[in-house]
Amino acid sequence: MVDKLEKKAAQLSKLIDSGKKFLITAHVNLDGDAIGSALALARMLKKRGKKARIVCDSAVPHIYMFLPDIEWIAHPPMYLDEKYDAIFFLDTGNRHRVGDVAKFLDGSTPEINIDHHASNRGFGAIDFLDYEASAVGEILAGLFGELGWEMDLECATQLFVAIYTDTGRFSFANTTPHALEVAAKLVAGGVNVEQIFQECYQKMPAGVAALLARVYNSIDFALDRRIAYIHIAKKDFEETGTSALDTQQFADIPRSIEGVEVSVYFREEGNDNYKVSFRANTGFDLNAFAAQFGGGGHPKAAGCTIHKGWPEVREVVINGLKERLEA
Ligand code: AMP
Ligand code: MN
Ligand code: MN
Repeated sequence: MVDKLEKKAAQLSKLIDSGKKFLITAHVNLDGDAIGSALALARMLKKRGKKARIVCDSAVPHIYMFLPDIEWIAHPPMYLDEKYDAIFFLDTGNRHRVGDVAKFLDGSTPEINIDHHASNRGFGAIDFLDYEASAVGEILAGLFGELGWEMDLECATQLFVAIYTDTGRFSFANTTPHALEVAAKLVAGGVNVEQIFQECYQKMPAGVAALLARVYNSIDFALDRRIAYIHIAKKDFEETGTSALDTQQFADIPRSIEGVEVSVYFREEGNDNYKVSFRANTGFDLNAFAAQFGGGGHPKAAGCTIHKGWPEVREVVINGLKERLEA
């Protein structure tokens, strides 16, 4: 791991030193790791006198609006007609996960892939993959340290949020000693954990509380309660004045029920179009399971999009899970 970091840092340092202007992007359905990592990298590049732009397909969930530099996140087609010396793909399991941003990339600009997804097989001119890292934020903290780039409090806050959210507030299996060590250093540098907790988790809009009531009502089970799932239809968002951006933690809800091995969150995105999020409590490999629907992710958290309506999407997913869990 140390050798790899040194080698990758040297490669990246050469590329960054020789360039002037960089584009940073991340996966659709922006989360705390994608956002925090993109902001931290942009901030560091700018501090080194480089031009950096962040362009991401998705809107920023309101819980991350407090982050320093959040206004730097632009959306396609903004800035995508400009020329860049390299493009950073952060937290992006494969090249297509950046949504509409990919439409503007002609392949002529070197791509740098920095990621921790188990499903990431590498696609960049430089691939910096660490499957053991809890978050891309953890990888970047190591990289900045290796490069001797000193972090300010803003950058430390951005990276902390990346690790804090991707570990489920230091609860998931990816909460390794190294993740905690990196987080401890960020806190020692002045990161305000209580403020971040309050911004991310203590400012639920009333509409989201109403949506949660519906979500708890929608909980259903299969296979002797080894599978639990929730369902949100478009009308639930409309009637509660909420959106998918408010529901990033919802996939964890059915998983938290005693005895549940695998949970599923079905979210209607459009006609015959469902976003499906999987979470596991056991060793069941969700990355592999989601792959059969063209998705992917991590062993214990993965997702996919399925072009079916309700209840067909439920049938295909729950039946598939039953088969695999019973096997
Ligand atoms: P989600 O269900 O969207 O919360 O995603 C869980 C994990 O799986 C995250 O790390 C996502 O980046 C990843 N993921 C979600 N959907 C996909 C997909 N279609 N392809 C690859 N990875 C995905
Ligand atoms: Mn992510
Ligand atoms: Mn991540």
